[in-house]
Amino acid sequence: MRVTFATEAAPGRPNEDFVAATPDAAVLLDGAGTPAGSDSGCSHGVTWYSHTLGSTLLATMAQSAGTLTELLAEGIKTVSSLHDGTCDLAHPGSPSATVIMLRRTDDALEWLVLADSVLILDVVDAPEPVIICDDREAQVGALHRAEMDALDSGSDEHVSAHRRYVETLRSYRNRDGGFWVAATDPLAADQALTGSMPVDRIRAAALLSDGASRLVDRYHLRTWRQVLDTLDESGPDGVIREVRVAEHSDPQGSRWPRGKTFDDATALYCCP
Ligand SMILES: [Zn+2]
Repeated sequence: MRVTFATEAAPGRPNEDFVAATPDAAVLLDGAGTPAGSDSGCSHGVTWYSHTLGSTLLATMAQSAGTLTELLAEGIKTVSSLHDGTCDLAHPGSPSATVIMLRRTDDALEWLVLADSVLILDVVDAPEPVIICDDREAQVGALHRAEMDALDSGSDEHVSAHRRYVETLRSYRNRDGGFWVAATDPLAADQALTGSMPVDRIRAAALLSDGASRLVDRYHLRTWRQVLDTLDESGPDGVIREVRVAEHSDPQGSRWPRGKTFDDATALYCCP
């Protein structure tokens, strides 16, 4: 595959997204779980979690022929074993991450999508791109975000409401009727969306963290097709630039209410 990617942290914060690729595989993770003032039971933190799980997954994808679901379950177990002696892995706020895995075999492109990062497939002869996203967290979140969305982003009240929102969502995490993410339970891998397609049917694929996909699914400034065009013409940097321009135009979140004024934004584009 020909692969390009870019990632940019929210200003002044460590980047909790992780992206990496080989010529035959790509991973994108978006870490989550611990707003300021919240406890997580883990001394390592969200950035450590997403970066360690992501690099573990990419390494096993290069070495093993197991299914992507099996490799994700193994990866979650491996990362748990790295800190179960020092951290409280039963804590409801332990670090977590969304996961996209993409692998090219001789004749197929395989994918796995867990939680709300977005996979876009540009399929030959299809008028619209195919979008693969697991939106269970957004469905649960919609029931609980009214208070936060009514407040100005960046205000102390908004910061507190965002923390309460994240803590409320923890009670829905990794259980039936809620939403599933990579954290400490390897069974979450069984909840991922998976699929494959003959490689000659796919013109291009794009992986976006929700900090980048918000250009389409929250701000409604672009279509998925336009994002593919930007990726093709300007590369992943071009998409992230468009996201930041939009966010700077609405610093208080009055046009687009959101948990974070800026989020880590990551885009990967590949032509198999
Ligand atoms: Zn830890």
